[in-house]
Amino acid sequence: MLWAVLPAGFEGPLILMLVSMVAVVGIGIYSGNSGIVSFGHTALMALGAYASAMMTIAPDDKARLLPALPDAVIALHLPPVAAILGACAVVGVVALPVALLIGRLEGSSASIATLGLLLIVNGVLVGARDYTRGSQALFGLPIAVTVPVAAAFVVLAILAARAFRDSRMGLALRAARENAAAAAAVGADVVRARQAAFLLSAVIAALAGALYGHFIGVLTPRAFYFDLTFALLAILIVGGMTTIAGAALGAVLVSVLVEVLRRLADGGTFGPLTLPPVYGLTTIGLSLAILAVLYRRQGGLLPYVEPDEVLRPPARPAVPPPAPARIEAGSGELRAERLTRRFDGVIAVSEASLVLRPGEILGLIGPNGAGKSTLLSMIAGSVPPTSGRVRIDGADATGLPPHRIARRGVQRTFQNIRLFGNLSVLDNVRVAADGGPWSRAEATARAWALLDRFDLTALAARPAGTLAYGPQRRVEIARAVARAPRYLLLDEPAAGMNAAESDALLDLLEGLRRDDGIGLLVIDHDLRLILRLCDRVAVLGKGQVIAEGPPEAVSRDPLVIEAYLGRRHAGDGRGPARSAATSGAPGQKTTDQHERRRDP
Ligand code: ADP
Ligand code: MG
Repeated sequence: MLWAVLPAGFEGPLILMLVSMVAVVGIGIYSGNSGIVSFGHTALMALGAYASAMMTIAPDDKARLLPALPDAVIALHLPPVAAILGACAVVGVVALPVALLIGRLEGSSASIATLGLLLIVNGVLVGARDYTRGSQALFGLPIAVTVPVAAAFVVLAILAARAFRDSRMGLALRAARENAAAAAAVGADVVRARQAAFLLSAVIAALAGALYGHFIGVLTPRAFYFDLTFALLAILIVGGMTTIAGAALGAVLVSVLVEVLRRLADGGTFGPLTLPPVYGLTTIGLSLAILAVLYRRQGGLLPYVEPDEVLRPPARPAVPPPAPARIEAGSGELRAERLTRRFDGVIAVSEASLVLRPGEILGLIGPNGAGKSTLLSMIAGSVPPTSGRVRIDGADATGLPPHRIARRGVQRTFQNIRLFGNLSVLDNVRVAADGGPWSRAEATARAWALLDRFDLTALAARPAGTLAYGPQRRVEIARAVARAPRYLLLDEPAAGMNAAESDALLDLLEGLRRDDGIGLLVIDHDLRLILRLCDRVAVLGKGQVIAEGPPEAVSRDPLVIEAYLGRRHAGDGRGPARSAATSGAPGQKTTDQHERRRDP
């Protein structure tokens, strides 16, 4: 077999490479899907290694080395593979509360927490001398990891990682990595997904640690500290932490690089060259490799898409798409009651009330800065109101987080399009469909059906971030519809569309009301569109609802002409409402630009 014919001295590095592959594939379950770099998985590897040591070191040795251990632990003497699996279980239990806590955090706070975990576990291992021998070596672990054993666990780790990546939770987590606000808006429970990812990745890290222990045979806390953390992060950065293939490729490349550098660092004669020993060459080489990759390819060598996903276009499942019953008129209503929102000194929305019923289209218009988006965001839960109430079909929903509002049947789109840029168009819609009351295959079928309906089928496999403006808006609306909402809030859905696209959009929105019975709230500047589309129109001026009624009546209302249509007069240098209509515009523009920068 392959490893038997390898030249002497290659088996060790090969096993180390496989073990590091298990480790980075495990770390990727959390870091790759969530986008949060973890420094703490090395600590979980340490726990796995020490746990397996406790179960495998011969009782006599244990009694001599660690007399303080409870008798039951001293008596434990399992075969290595059983102990490795046992260590995974033990670390799973220990990591559960950690996963619950760290899973609540996002972004850099989560990273810092994982760093804390590394420091704490190292401190405990060094400090608990009676149980671990402290910073002294703990030896006597049976050497049991051969190439086939390590390879078998690599396969296991990859299967687990892939299963999680493709699961509902994995997809939701990847969506949140791309855009947290949008993931919440479609109802994804990102915290739970992150907690599950952390727990599973902790178990796989423990597996890697235990394998390492039974390869080397000796443990020290130092072996599981910053050097190893750095090496594993180098693998993830070089290969690309967002894919399993990237992590695996990184393990191969970095292992080869490290092995070459290690030999060079000792100095010696290589053909015509005689090199002096160079201290730290491995670290320097790894750092340069990281820099080179980051400079050329931010996401690593294999970012975002697994190779098989490139080769195989996404398939339609055999099941028919579920067709939710048409929502009945009069079956409830979405109410905003005297909603107010202050930002510091600015009153963005003041005592605004609205009612939206299934099967109707309510327009919300008003000049820039009038508070339209803020009002929509208060209803959707992403901006907590300063005062006032939101009721969904009679139940109070004030102050609920966006994902819980979404689960109650309210979906929204964003003024500045928020897609999951590196996920396919299909996956963008599938994340939302996944939340519905149907099977996974049915959710996928529903996503396909919506792509058909929104004229996106040809773009199904494309990363959503690469589409033109018009299709991006359609993806966002298809995604918002996927969970079968009762109410749909659209913030300037026609912005950036040309006349033909905007006409097509009009038909689509009409269809959502007519065929699905959804209640639509549509914010738009295009009065032509609003007047053609809406049953009722509410006008917001300086945060207050200043008029509401049928489109014709509203468009003739003098207050409305002053506050809103007055802008046209202001542009002419006529009209009384010059300041009212234009004052919001410059401020609004900065907000938009700021948001765009954050959210390309
Ligand atoms: P519209 O959507 O009608 O153009 P917005 O709801 O975006 O208006 O904004 C209403 C007012 O609230 C503006 O003055 C805007 O600058 C302010 N505003 C909106 N969001 C924020 C925020 N996150 N922080 C501070 N001020 C905000
Ligand atoms: Mg707005």
